Amino acid sequence: MEKKTVYLGLGSNLGDKRDILTRATELLSLALGSTAHSSTFVESEPWGFESQNNFVNCVVAIETESTPLQLLHITEKIERKLGRERKSTNGQYSDRAIDIDILFYGNEVMTSERLTIPHPLLHKRLFVLEPLNEIAPHLVHPVLHRTTAELLADLASR
Ligand code: ADP
Ligand code: MG
Repeated sequence: MEKKTVYLGLGSNLGDKRDILTRATELLSLALGSTAHSSTFVESEPWGFESQNNFVNCVVAIETESTPLQLLHITEKIERKLGRERKSTNGQYSDRAIDIDILFYGNEVMTSERLTIPHPLLHKRLFVLEPLNEIAPHLVHPVLHRTTAELLADLASR
């Protein structure tokens, strides 16, 4: 299969957050056999739920030959390895040592029971767009047809 560049959104709000993000990035490189390129770490407040624990977030770019579903299984395995205990259910968010979301998978657009790509909330989240803008400002969203820089400007001006 041909290689795709995928962008992953990582977040942690429990434990040694920066260390967990660093380890998740290393495990992604190892699992996919390709170097993961990470943005810097940004801090943000919990989005969609109340918590005392702020998040640290980053966005990682990596090449893969895995299918989207295979990639999801890999990211879920890394989440489990790094101590993620509870899955969000019914849109209820909660504290987590690590969350890895698939933001973009090449230019692909897909909606299935397990996966929506591009990630449906990425354009509403500063903690995704800011780090994404560091590493891929000219990347074009395949549904919204806006670059990361444009999406960030749109959100910041709202
Ligand atoms: P959240 O990321 O919303 O806090 P979870 O990480 O527990 O919650 O994910 C909930 C479900 O979201 C997963 O079981 C997964 O199947 C689904 N999902 C749908 N689209 C995506 C995506 N683009 N990236 C990651 N997970 C996704
Ligand atoms: Mg997730």
